[in-house]
Amino acid sequence: MKIYLDNAATTKIFPEILKEMTGVFEEYYANPNAIYSDAQKSRNLIEESRRLITDFVGSESEEIFFTSCATESNNTIIRGLAEQFPQKNEVVISPIEHKSVLNPVKFLQRKGFKVKFLKIDKNGLIDIDDLKNKINSKTLFVGVIHGNNETGVIQDIEKIGKICKEKEVYFFSDVVQTFCKEKINLDYLDFFSVSGHKINAPKGIGLFYKNKDTQIVPLLFGGGQEKGLRSGTENVAFIKFLADAVKIWNENNQQKISYLKEIRDEFENQLQKEIPEIEIISKSVSRVPNISAVIFPKVDAQSMVIGLNSENVMVSSGSACSSGTPTPSHVLLSYGYSEKETLRYVRFSFGLMNKKEEIYESVKRIKTVFDKLYNFF
Ligand code: PLP
Repeated sequence: MKIYLDNAATTKIFPEILKEMTGVFEEYYANPNAIYSDAQKSRNLIEESRRLITDFVGSESEEIFFTSCATESNNTIIRGLAEQFPQKNEVVISPIEHKSVLNPVKFLQRKGFKVKFLKIDKNGLIDIDDLKNKINSKTLFVGVIHGNNETGVIQDIEKIGKICKEKEVYFFSDVVQTFCKEKINLDYLDFFSVSGHKINAPKGIGLFYKNKDTQIVPLLFGGGQEKGLRSGTENVAFIKFLADAVKIWNENNQQKISYLKEIRDEFENQLQKEIPEIEIISKSVSRVPNISAVIFPKVDAQSMVIGLNSENVMVSSGSACSSGTPTPSHVLLSYGYSEKETLRYVRFSFGLMNKKEEIYESVKRIKTVFDKLYNFF
């Protein structure tokens, strides 16, 4: 039995969506920007999908913009704000952002922006006093990820947003890992980004929310689709699949979240019983329900991931591996972990399609692989 425990990286597509795919592509083939009736069918499908999402989010239709992925959403927001407000040249962000936020911000830095990184405590929470001190009249925006993709730690974006509002700076949050799993209060948020493939829609579709009172310069110029902010013929079918995924997640949502928590907690309890020396990162603070970040004693994460792969368990190590040499996770380094500790960190992430028996079976296989490697190292 193959066991997939890398749902924070991507999820399997909901079977209901897989089933309807061919039919949607056949029926809604026409360009939604034309005026004949089949084109209007495509247009209506997009707007129905947008309405479904705005109802769930609590926004207005004109505040949701479809993109190809969250990376595009993050780039559009960050670079769009910088272009729109050239008189502001400072940015305050957390050091634990996803690369799709960190790298566009680094791009701004190369163009002369001052980037201020927030302090993070050992549990991965940002220091609120530090945030207050770092904002000034030159600050363009504050960017803080909602649920961290490596550890699952959730930031108090309401509290952060209130401070930003008081200080009159824009607040942007990457909610990719929390969308459909945690409530998002729009009272204090100006922008957020979402990725379809993290919630069982296909890869290649994302969106962003932009408060209607704020203007930004588009990243792409062209035919002016998506109210001028995302030119390019809309991906009609994928927009529908994204809306379908949101709809499915929100049917008995609390039950789904409870299930994820239950299997995550059971996994952690069982694993801790088998290998008591593991450390589960940030276990005592609020986390997304489906991510478990584990530091193993002695054994490096790459070997664990490869060993588990040969046992048919798919997981991820937090360290990026380019040219064969693992580089430590910037997230864990920001928490204050040593380089050695970060290289022993493995991420297990659960999804709605994981069965309980997979949890017990995966712990057995992890124990087998760990024991072999422990004796070897
Ligand atoms: N933000 C976070 C927190 C993520 O986990 C990811 C995906 O790994 C992204 C952004 C990028 O998403 P996409 O693959 O849709 O560009």
